[in-house]
Amino acid sequence: MPNFANNPDRASWLHVDPHSDFPIQNIPFGVFLTRDHITTIGSRIGDTAIDLAALHQLGYFKGIPLTDGIFLQDTLNDFIADSRKTWRAVRNRIAELFDVNNNLLKSNEKDKKAVLFNMDEIEMQLPIQIGDYTDFYASKEHATNVGTMFRGKDNALMPNWLHLPVGYHGRSSSIIPSNIPIRRPKGQMLAAGTEGPVFGPSKAVDFELEMAFITTDANVLGDSIPIDEAESYIFGLVLFNDWSARDIQRWEYVPLGPFLGKNFASSMSPWIVTLDALEPFRVASPKQIPEPLPYLQFKGNKSFDINLEVAIQAENSEETVVTRSNFKYMYWNMAQQLTHHSVNGCPINAGDMLGSGTISGPTPESYGSMLELAWKGEKPIKLNNGSERVYICDNDCVILRGYCENKAVRIGFGEVVTKLLPAH
Ligand code: CA
Repeated sequence: MPNFANNPDRASWLHVDPHSDFPIQNIPFGVFLTRDHITTIGSRIGDTAIDLAALHQLGYFKGIPLTDGIFLQDTLNDFIADSRKTWRAVRNRIAELFDVNNNLLKSNEKDKKAVLFNMDEIEMQLPIQIGDYTDFYASKEHATNVGTMFRGKDNALMPNWLHLPVGYHGRSSSIIPSNIPIRRPKGQMLAAGTEGPVFGPSKAVDFELEMAFITTDANVLGDSIPIDEAESYIFGLVLFNDWSARDIQRWEYVPLGPFLGKNFASSMSPWIVTLDALEPFRVASPKQIPEPLPYLQFKGNKSFDINLEVAIQAENSEETVVTRSNFKYMYWNMAQQLTHHSVNGCPINAGDMLGSGTISGPTPESYGSMLELAWKGEKPIKLNNGSERVYICDNDCVILRGYCENKAVRIGFGEVVTKLLPAH
């Protein structure tokens, strides 16, 4: 099926601000609560949310094989499980319906009233029931920085790092959408110069600038996903703040890896931008030396040029952008991550989430965590209000944003905003 929803020349009859992340070429998917307290699957053009369940009920998806209640659900899982053919057909139909030259819905005031909402009338929800969450460690700059801090420059990368996308299984119960505040976690940690651990609120709460991709059903137990098929199982991407408590993490992580320092919260942006919508922004991946094993070798451009930034907003203050990075810096791309994940026969299901790992760029202004930006606390970051940060303070908001842009179109992810409340 052609992907004509991406046509850069198309304009919508809905108002779209020139700098909007959500032009008619984006057509992301999310779940929201309407002013009538109905949970529905929806999309967005400009600052208008579109109720897809209402649109379906009114017959606007005629000709596309969809079950009756596919959009009247509180998660996207069933829609995602319907496979790429369906996602593409639905995006194409939405593009058609909202095209400036199409009067079908545009001239029907009654239907418009049932289908369209201002963004400030709705409440975005977690868009998927996340079955399994896996997090990678796929930025060479990030792995090198962290390795240098903890093991010295000569042993920065572990011997496996250049041969496989290192990852671990996370926990999905603490993944939250934007605008849900979190509590500073408590735990065990070892204070510098002491022998035994202490218990208390973490003193080193950090963000991790990541993106995550959401999959559809891909393989059964025992089967593997070949790398040239991997992308067809990726539904779309979100911004992802993988909150971390560095002091808890440092004390607990040997020998089994991340645990309570990581699983207290991860925040995702609520609109899932489809991989289809990101097609115009493919770029080459960083050159991989040594060449990976054959099952991880790929053809074509498998990375995406997505500008990313993180801002910190202290209470009653203007925000300060503390880093600017890009998804294209990832050493291991999504196709390699998904292929590697299933190479042993591990099943990948609809609604699984795979985090990229912290995305650090090559320069100190593009690092993806406070651990790196303030270099273990040695170089505090100055905020616009004059205060300094080495980690995140109570009542700070952390805001991630991301967008792609070329001469014709800007496709964005909106933002994910999370406030850190004091420990209980
Ligand atoms: Ca992470």
